[in-house]
Amino acid sequence: MKICRFDQNRIGVVDGDRILDVTGVLEHLPALSYPGPRGDVLIANLERLRPIIVELTATAPSVALNAANLLSPVANPTKLICAPVNYLKHLEEGEGDPEIHYNRHVAKIREVALFLKATSALVGPAEGVRLRHLDRRNDHELELAVVIGRTADHVGLEEAMSYVAGYSIGLDMTVRGLEDRSFRKSIDSYAVLGPWLVTADEIPNPGTLDMSLYVNGQLRQTANTCDLIVNIPELIVWASSFYTLHPGDVIYTGTPEGVGPVEPGDTIDAEVASIGTMRVPVTAA
Ligand code: MN
Repeated sequence: MKICRFDQNRIGVVDGDRILDVTGVLEHLPALSYPGPRGDVLIANLERLRPIIVELTATAPSVALNAANLLSPVANPTKLICAPVNYLKHLEEGEGDPEIHYNRHVAKIREVALFLKATSALVGPAEGVRLRHLDRRNDHELELAVVIGRTADHVGLEEAMSYVAGYSIGLDMTVRGLEDRSFRKSIDSYAVLGPWLVTADEIPNPGTLDMSLYVNGQLRQTANTCDLIVNIPELIVWASSFYTLHPGDVIYTGTPEGVGPVEPGDTIDAEVASIGTMRVPVTAA
């Protein structure tokens, strides 16, 4: 199931080129009293609400997908967790022992480690990226984004994937410079998530997905998630060994080679197989 949030916080199920409006499902969320639970209440209740969503689709009004303003499919994550560059470029023949090469990359990622972007940076594709500090280079990073479905603490490798609610396309936008990553990558709108959440049951093997990013129609990044160095279950184990993951938390799994600059007026098109495509306008803040 492809679940989106659109226009004025409406909830939809994507069906071909239409969105079935199932916003009525929100009436089935638990009544919350201050301060409420941590995390995204819709994602936390998604499994329980799925039969209700299916029931609503039978009589739901629909809107054209290309006429809807797509917001981030997750409204209230507690953390946007990010892996650094996490793809291994294929070795040229005779370039050395692939295993040594691979282990060196794993060691480097483990040393650099995961980092966080502020949740206030999160936007959907329709909101676009609003660049700041135009005197500096602003880069796109295409990433597979994993959305956590239930509270996860000290998760083991065998059970890690059972904590995944679904997948989206992520853009980890960055202003280049020497400041801490959490500062440079947390500018408002520098965490794009969309175009919807594809529930985990629809993507049984997220480790074999082609993905590409274009700027103004020109290919900048292309990769397959089979080349992830630290894979999705390992990322969940690693992250949850440091902090509890809450429903709606997002793991940006790291970008492949080909990151490059964007400028106001550019259009980013990002696609990940089994998820879809999203168009993200770039403007000046
Ligand atoms: Mn990144």
